[in-house]
Amino acid sequence: MDLTLDYNPDKVYDVIIIGAGPAGSTAAIYTARAGLSTLVLYRAEADGALGVTQNIENYPGVPGPISGYELLKRMRNQAKSFGAEFVRGKVIATDLNGDIKKVYTIDGREFKGRAVIVASGAMERTHKYKGEEEFLGRGVSYCGVCDAAFFKGKDVAVIGEDDYAIEEAEFISRFARHIYFVVPSSKIKAPPELVEELRNIKNIEILMHHRIIEIVGDQFVTGLKVKNIDTKEDKVLPVEGVFIFLGGNKPSIDFLMNQVEMTDGGCLLINEEMETSIPGVFAAGDILCTNIKQAVIAAADGCKVALAVDKYLKGKAKIAPQW
Ligand SMILES: Cc1cc2nc3c(=O)[nH]c(=O)nc-3n(C[C@H](O)[C@H](O)[C@H](O)COP(=O)(O)OP(=O)(O)OC[C@H]3O[C@@H](n4cnc5c(N)ncnc54)[C@H](O)[C@@H]3O)c2cc1C
Repeated sequence: MDLTLDYNPDKVYDVIIIGAGPAGSTAAIYTARAGLSTLVLYRAEADGALGVTQNIENYPGVPGPISGYELLKRMRNQAKSFGAEFVRGKVIATDLNGDIKKVYTIDGREFKGRAVIVASGAMERTHKYKGEEEFLGRGVSYCGVCDAAFFKGKDVAVIGEDDYAIEEAEFISRFARHIYFVVPSSKIKAPPELVEELRNIKNIEILMHHRIIEIVGDQFVTGLKVKNIDTKEDKVLPVEGVFIFLGGNKPSIDFLMNQVEMTDGGCLLINEEMETSIPGVFAAGDILCTNIKQAVIAAADGCKVALAVDKYLKGKAKIAPQW
């Protein structure tokens, strides 16, 4: 896991892109190729809608079948070849007003940019578990890097079912004594090689197809009550920590903290140049309430938004195509 080795808090990027799916990665190809210093922040390698897709065979020019993760790696490598920097970090807060925008990640880093593209997709959780809010900060966590060290030598549960959860569990396993990796569905949505890596970690026990019933405790977490969907058996896992890394189908916009205008239907309001109500803050991809969610459409959005950012930063009246 890359942490803060090359982190320079004083650097001001031309553009910070939140999300490394097809929208964010395509935007990065265009902004970096146009000579804009470009930072892309993302949660995990095989994360997001395309990252969890096993096979794709309708992306133009890539006959496939190819895994979504493999396709993403190609897009990201193309962006990196033009100088874009990709840094792993879950964005939890932003300060978007003013000429210099600030973006904060869950591990306490602050990044600065002159423009921001929000391309974080629509895979956010829609509901919370019983006990989750009550024990937040008292055993419940959403960040392995931030909190794993507090659970040194202790037993914890990690709830998740994709690469984001796998990467976090791998990190937590360096501290915890035993990890119950609880998968609510019957499948882990990650490339097979990553699932294999997870299976090979000695202090991780994978519990497939277990529904979460409740996080229990008194002052602090003492257990996680789960139901085995196949056997219908309930049990309480004796853990002192519960790390939650699950997705859903809600746009990932909590970190915008109500700074930008939304439509009545709860969608991000953008103009024809994909700019939100805050100058210099743009959006692209599944995060927008488009009726067709496809990789090629997200990628096309990424192109459009990058050209709009270039125009914004250069103060131009017209978008100039980059052939
Ligand atoms: C199961 C499935 C199958 C699909 N099959 C196809 C198909 O065959 N063909 C096709 O064209 N499309 C397919 N799609 C749709 C396609 O994958 C999406 O339309 C596309 O990936 C959307 O791209 P995006 O860049 O907007 O978002 P995503 O691909 O979802 O990427 C979002 C990015 O944002 C990052 N992110 C999210 N929150 C944060 C945060 N807080 N901080 C930092 N980073 C964050 C994630 O890590 C990720 O990098 C499929 C989708 C699914 C779910």
